[in-house]
Amino acid sequence: MATRTFAGGIHPPEYKEQTNSLPVEQIDLPQQVIIPLHQHTGAPCTPKVNVGESVTVGQVIGDSDAFISAPVHSSVAGHVVAIEPLPYFNNTRVLSVVIEVEGDQVWVPDQDPLDYRDINVEDIRQAVRQAGVVGLGGAAFPTHVKLTPPKNKPIDSVIINGCECEPYLTCDHRIMLERPQDVVLGANIARKAVGASKVYIGIETNKPDAIRVMQEVAGEEQDMEVVPLEVKYPEGAEKQLIKAVLDRRVPPGKLPSEVGALVQNVGTAVAIAEAVTLGKPLFERVLTVTGPCIAQPKNLKIRIGTPVSHVLEQCGGFSQTPRKVIMGGPMTGWAQSSLDVPVVKGTSGIVALPESMVSEAKWHNCVRCGKCVKACPMFLLPNFIGMYAEAHNYDKAEKFDVLDCFECGACAYVCPSRRPLVQFFRNAKAEIMARRRRA
Ligand code: SF4
Ligand code: SF4
Repeated sequence: MATRTFAGGIHPPEYKEQTNSLPVEQIDLPQQVIIPLHQHTGAPCTPKVNVGESVTVGQVIGDSDAFISAPVHSSVAGHVVAIEPLPYFNNTRVLSVVIEVEGDQVWVPDQDPLDYRDINVEDIRQAVRQAGVVGLGGAAFPTHVKLTPPKNKPIDSVIINGCECEPYLTCDHRIMLERPQDVVLGANIARKAVGASKVYIGIETNKPDAIRVMQEVAGEEQDMEVVPLEVKYPEGAEKQLIKAVLDRRVPPGKLPSEVGALVQNVGTAVAIAEAVTLGKPLFERVLTVTGPCIAQPKNLKIRIGTPVSHVLEQCGGFSQTPRKVIMGGPMTGWAQSSLDVPVVKGTSGIVALPESMVSEAKWHNCVRCGKCVKACPMFLLPNFIGMYAEAHNYDKAEKFDVLDCFECGACAYVCPSRRPLVQFFRNAKAEIMARRRRA
């Protein structure tokens, strides 16, 4: 099979065999859900409910007037028992609505299914915004914003991202196998919203069944093509995917619209389809629960706000004591200090790793081997940026384009000195942005 790819990148072990053949299941609901009001890139939402109030499945419980934001909906029926800052997966605290689950938990649409071809572009964007759809690949960028490109940046190509290049995760793989028509429907709606002529569906060649199924469904559509891609990390990163599929390079600091492209994850495509045709809010998502410490690894459809501890219980708990529980994939995910945090819109997986797979080795000075430079898909110099960031020389780190780093972790993965490069870069970026805000 002919494949395309980008320059740089790495080949970590895939570890997908635990779950890639397991259909998506649903689990029992927890007694309480914890729904953070800031689960997306952009402005946080303010609460639209009060303590003691009853809520229904899909009811708006938080919203914002800001364009770059997305409303938050209740994922269950019940009553609000608290609204307070609670632990979030990235080790901060976020204002959250706690809902005691009670009553009928079925979401009932308040409209008959619509045909997107009868809906105008502005109404498509509104439906996506009202449903609170954000990128489900991890970044959680509000989707209605992506579907509203600047007027002077015409989009000719929509790329549906079915790479799922993170080790362990298989939820996007299962979505393509189980809901290919909805992926294609969401792709067509996104194509209409941005006025693009062509749709590409990029899938790594380690998912031949997904490539076959998507080719069958996409083959019935006009100007829609499945593109097999090399198995390489981070093939699914936006700029790398655009390079691999379209052979266009997004300039540093610019967005995909600069080169006429829009990228949406396969799960997001399904959420767009449900939002526009059914009016369904984003109150649940598919994720993978896996790793050597999980008793029964699964792909699950989970209500947003379900505590991680409840999800793990529903997977039989731990088969051995984990050293690390990660929300997201092992390359870009966040290690958790508590299992009380909730699943949010951007949670693509929960991965539990044993002691033997978690390196606690001390890190050392850079030995100037250059491996990180070769691995970096953004053509940065992680060795120099790392040294400057470690020395708190943030001006130099900025000069060496630390802000173009999207924290894929490829450099840290190959570093023989085990330097915590991504942590260095995160600190440097946070400090540079804080300085800019102060200025
Ligand atoms: S984490 Fe940043 S510097 Fe390192 S390889 Fe990825 S993009 Fe390059
Ligand atoms: S891989 Fe590590 S040791 Fe090698 S040049 Fe990069 S930072 Fe230095």
